[in-house]
Amino acid sequence: MEKIKMQTPLVEMDGDEMTRILWKMIKDELLFPFIDLKTEYYDLGLEYRNATDDQVTVDSANATMKYGVAVKCATITPNAARMTEYDLKEMWKSPNGTIRAMLDGTVFRTPIVVKGIEPCVKNWKKPITIARHAYGDVYKNAEMAIPGPGEVKLVYVPADGSEAQEITVHNFKGSGVVQGQHNLDESIESFARSCFEYALDTKQDLWFSTKDTISKKYDHRFKDIFADLYESDYKEKFEKAGITYFYTLIDDAVARIMKAEGGFIWACKNYDGDVMSDMVSSAFGSLAMMTSVLVSPHGYYEYEAAHGTVQRHYYKHLKGEETSTNSVATIFAWTGALRKRGEMDGNKELMEFADKLEKATLDTIESGKMTKDLALITTMKDVTVANSEEFIKAIRKTLEAAL
Ligand code: NAP
Ligand code: MG
Repeated sequence: MEKIKMQTPLVEMDGDEMTRILWKMIKDELLFPFIDLKTEYYDLGLEYRNATDDQVTVDSANATMKYGVAVKCATITPNAARMTEYDLKEMWKSPNGTIRAMLDGTVFRTPIVVKGIEPCVKNWKKPITIARHAYGDVYKNAEMAIPGPGEVKLVYVPADGSEAQEITVHNFKGSGVVQGQHNLDESIESFARSCFEYALDTKQDLWFSTKDTISKKYDHRFKDIFADLYESDYKEKFEKAGITYFYTLIDDAVARIMKAEGGFIWACKNYDGDVMSDMVSSAFGSLAMMTSVLVSPHGYYEYEAAHGTVQRHYYKHLKGEETSTNSVATIFAWTGALRKRGEMDGNKELMEFADKLEKATLDTIESGKMTKDLALITTMKDVTVANSEEFIKAIRKTLEAAL
């Protein structure tokens, strides 16, 4: 078979630990034999980030803005233990945080649905994608412990010197706590735009929910910004694509989700997204079966697995012990990026290859061959537990048979 050609490179962001091991195996077994793979390579492994004073992360984000599509391996976010382990010059920031800030993007997390790994919620037939607003609210709050009686006020002092505005938060009779939160129209609008774009991109309905009945100014602003942008820029496009935008109260959304079939995007405020994405991923089965894509309002895409570097498995691997680490989400990061690259370049062969590789991956699991994490939760009988390498090689076999 002749290898599939690529016109434009993908931005490739390599990473750390066990996922770095899987990364190479995926390229060697599932990509190089079939594609004339063109990538612009950035090593986001912690050692090289440290060596370049994290410049490599910034460069990789700039490259994503140049080429439009990136695929990223999981990376270590340094903490105190990593400082000593890697002898770091500084506690470098999370690469995901740096890239997200530069691309101004929203993260969409989607479970990979496969027969034999059944969601706890039995009517969930299709994936539910969660989009989490990644700025402000409780994550950038100002809070204070109130020791005793006194008045707490919210004061706005305009920069132009005009008259200040203030309101009473509470007249404390005893001790308590107080918290101030904020958000920015610009950030909410960019979040809304990414959500509308991604709904169109994936041809799925978009839900959005807040508590606007209680929070008549704060949450209501979110609702209004979404509604205005929908009316002005997306209504026609949605109608043409046959999808809908649906706004409802957060409590109503939660109740409806439990009865729904899936197959839509749920846009959430920062805190709701934090909590609900963990609930949805655990109910769908496994963190190792979650993909994640960062979508910028300017149309840049960065694909990755939702899980981390699987450190515990890596240390087993270093000791020469066998691992059975699930590579599905990392494979789907590659297929997502290849499909998007193909779509942007009008490269149908590349798009079809992405579909076939995904199907081969799911078929392999459905035939009873899977990694240990899935074997522990599957409803299938007589499964074969494959080690990290065997699983990827089994997918290659399925893929070759299908090509
Ligand atoms: P993790 O790497 O997601 O792993 C947590 C546990 O979940 C693993 O120990 C394993 O459980 C299970 N697991 C996750 N992915 C799996 C897979 N593909 N196959 C099989 N089991 C899987 O999270 P972590 O241990 O908290 O973090 C490790 C490092 O990853 C940290 O340095 C963190 O900064 C980084 N991280 C990076 C990203 C990212 O780049 N997007 C995201 C999160 C975390 P068992 O051990 O029970 O088998
Ligand atoms: Mg969370």
